Amino acid sequence: MSSDSSPLHFETQCIHGGVHKDQQYNSVTTPIYPTSTFYWNSLESNSGYDYTRSGNPTRKALEENIAALEKGAGCVATSTGMSAIHCAMALFSPGDHIVAPADLYGGTFRLFERFLKEKGISFTFVDMTDAAKVEAAMTSTTKGLWIETPSNPLLKVIDIAAMVRIARSHSAITLCDNTFLSPYLQRPIEMGVDIVVHSTTKYINGHSDVVGGCVVSASTDYAKKIAWICNALGLACSPFDAWLVLRGIKTLGCRMDAQQANAMAIARFLESHPLIERVYYPGLESHPQHQLAKEQQKGFGAMLSFDTKDGRPTAERVCMKSKLFDVAESLGGIESLISFPVTMSHASMTPEARAAAGITEKTVRVSVGLEHADDLIADLRQAIDG
Ligand SMILES: *Cc1c(COP(=O)(O)O)cnc(C)c1O
Repeated sequence: MSSDSSPLHFETQCIHGGVHKDQQYNSVTTPIYPTSTFYWNSLESNSGYDYTRSGNPTRKALEENIAALEKGAGCVATSTGMSAIHCAMALFSPGDHIVAPADLYGGTFRLFERFLKEKGISFTFVDMTDAAKVEAAMTSTTKGLWIETPSNPLLKVIDIAAMVRIARSHSAITLCDNTFLSPYLQRPIEMGVDIVVHSTTKYINGHSDVVGGCVVSASTDYAKKIAWICNALGLACSPFDAWLVLRGIKTLGCRMDAQQANAMAIARFLESHPLIERVYYPGLESHPQHQLAKEQQKGFGAMLSFDTKDGRPTAERVCMKSKLFDVAESLGGIESLISFPVTMSHASMTPEARAAAGITEKTVRVSVGLEHADDLIADLRQAIDG
């Protein structure tokens, strides 16, 4: 199925995109091909697949599906979100400079700051909600601008089109981590971004039963380079994992619709609760980039955070006394999760860096699932009220 030219709606593409109809037994789903290698018909010809690290029909079906959803020219499906990010960053060379957001996903920050920096790539981390700061960070060696929006855990929204303009005026490329919204709610390639990455562990698979990632390229030129890197570094996902993600993706649209409706209801409940100081959710009029989120996203997503008035006591109570929200890292699944960034997802940041980013002992993060909103709200209410 071609991407840009497809007349089909997103939800239809989720279900039919890339699905290779089984010619032998007519199964309606893509079979799993758990094979390491493929036999040749002659010394000159094979089926189009020769070795699973380089290509596999199940993985190919997933890659075609995601490429179509993100409106990309090509996609590789990788073993984790981090392997997708590593794959994309392998486009750069020692001496290159990258500008990235200050409140970057922790694993990405570690890869950039503690690994790639030692290999000779330099980074400047800035508040990307301020275009002037991004412009000021650009140098003659800046080759890439890394975008992650909305940010984790405070849901800051970055103006993707403005970042693309800045990057292009410096002949740099743009790369966007689109994990928090999925292609259903945000399509960076349509806004001029060159490379999109996902942790498919999150919304794309959506069922908390696999870790995976993908890299989508806007042009065939980058798609070829990324496919080459993925094969050379051996980053691709297994046929089993590809099959699970392909199954999860079929319900992406309706999951996102239902989960973000729940998130909006919970955000409004929290905003009205006397023990809650502040709610971070782009769907609320009180969110500083609410208007921008409305313009560049198709919806506000299902992640939210909030600050309690008294800090740790209420934060700890809501985490530990809620019954439907497991206290766990990760996000984007159909089950609701709650977390305390200071000791969990953002524990590796120094207290100073956390304070600078606005993450304190007041902050609680919620990944809103697919349960009934009334049950989720009642559960949070009893936990907050203790
Ligand atoms: C989880 C996550 C990643 C890393 O993905 P893994 O599948 O855990 O390797 C990268 N970026 C964001 C925004 C994430 O939430």
